[in-house]
Amino acid sequence: MATPKIISARFDEKKAHTLEGYLALGGYATLKKLFKMKPDEVIDEVKRSGLRGRGGAGFPTGMKWSFIPKNTDKPKYLCVNADEGEPGTFKDRLILERDPHALIEGILICCHAVGIKTAYIYIRGEYDFPLARLGAAVKEAYANGYLGKNIKNSGVDVDVVIHRGAGAYICGDETGLIESLEGKKGQPRPKPPFPAIVGVFDCPTVVNNVETISALPWIMTNGADAYAAIGTEKSKGTMLFSISGMVERPGVYEGAFGVNLWKFIEESTGGVKGGKKLKAVIPGGSSSAILTAEEARNVNLDYESIAATGAMVGSGAIMVFDEDTCVVEALEVVLRFYAHESCGQCPPCREGTYWLYEIVNRIRTGRGRPEDIDLMLAICPDMLGRTVCVLADSAAIPAASYIKKFRSEFEAYIDKANPPERKLHPGGINFEARAL
Ligand code: SF4
Repeated sequence: MATPKIISARFDEKKAHTLEGYLALGGYATLKKLFKMKPDEVIDEVKRSGLRGRGGAGFPTGMKWSFIPKNTDKPKYLCVNADEGEPGTFKDRLILERDPHALIEGILICCHAVGIKTAYIYIRGEYDFPLARLGAAVKEAYANGYLGKNIKNSGVDVDVVIHRGAGAYICGDETGLIESLEGKKGQPRPKPPFPAIVGVFDCPTVVNNVETISALPWIMTNGADAYAAIGTEKSKGTMLFSISGMVERPGVYEGAFGVNLWKFIEESTGGVKGGKKLKAVIPGGSSSAILTAEEARNVNLDYESIAATGAMVGSGAIMVFDEDTCVVEALEVVLRFYAHESCGQCPPCREGTYWLYEIVNRIRTGRGRPEDIDLMLAICPDMLGRTVCVLADSAAIPAASYIKKFRSEFEAYIDKANPPERKLHPGGINFEARAL
């Protein structure tokens, strides 16, 4: 059965980013039904759909909403996380550029369900064109009564505020995002308390990713059962996957959960570039463990199957390595990124990311010592689960997995009698955002 297009259905429609184009394609049609429903009915519908957060953690969306206290005097907020910064991830960008009204309609659904009157969209500072498209869509929505007071005579008020980030990866963490939104240094907060209780301006807050919110109009139009019928028992629906690296056609592809990982990559992108051999796949962004070619060919693309390999679906950033890709160099790029992006408040992260990068750098540049590989493996466990956010884990998990699965490549760099040819991959390691 062909994968239904839920998120990407309008990506190729030239005018879908405008209100006129979105309405012509059936946009905002859910509002009549939505405003007749009680908030709890909307939450139940989203719970039954099985929708999980598409930003990385995969937490059930309806359950997250139900943590927001009902009887509170404080205002409640929605923060849409559009700070897409995980290397290899570039799918929310397409929603913002090509279908921003779907995000706005999704925001209305969430706000009605949870009783929210103000939604913030925190967008990464580098996203100029997505910001322009989103800003224009918000303006149009206000001008035509889809945002603001008494939306379409429903008695529902929702305001949307776009907040531009300044380019820090760590502001993609939900509490780092909240600190930054409040005008402070973007440093994650210890949890608990969780944002559902103490979020933006110390008020109850839902933080959801762009893609998660953009799936809501389809769910409300077609019903929770239709969404839940796609995918596997625990991984429901579809997800956008950003596929980059050494494939014929890198880009953003929507896939249903439960398909074979490599088959999905091959059918979507045309397979490994230039007919080369597959070496490895990163299934869920640079913070994921790596899969060997054999693992990638034998695992299904859903949260549970990928987790069983020690890797993760994450934000759906799939990176493909061909036979010429140097795993040592790839790990060096990953660790340089995390060492640079650590906010520095937790010693295991501040020191650990720095030392992992320093050691892999000396290995890659021919200065490695025989004990360096085991030294890296000894550092990694001390970084796991000991910090305020998961950035330390995001460096330690790939480091340990690249070394364990491709140890001989690291050893070859240290073997002075037989060093590998030290050349960069002809295409470079591509962690740049790139889309169709
Ligand atoms: Fe900052 Fe790293 Fe601690 Fe996260 S784990 S709060 S990035 S120091």
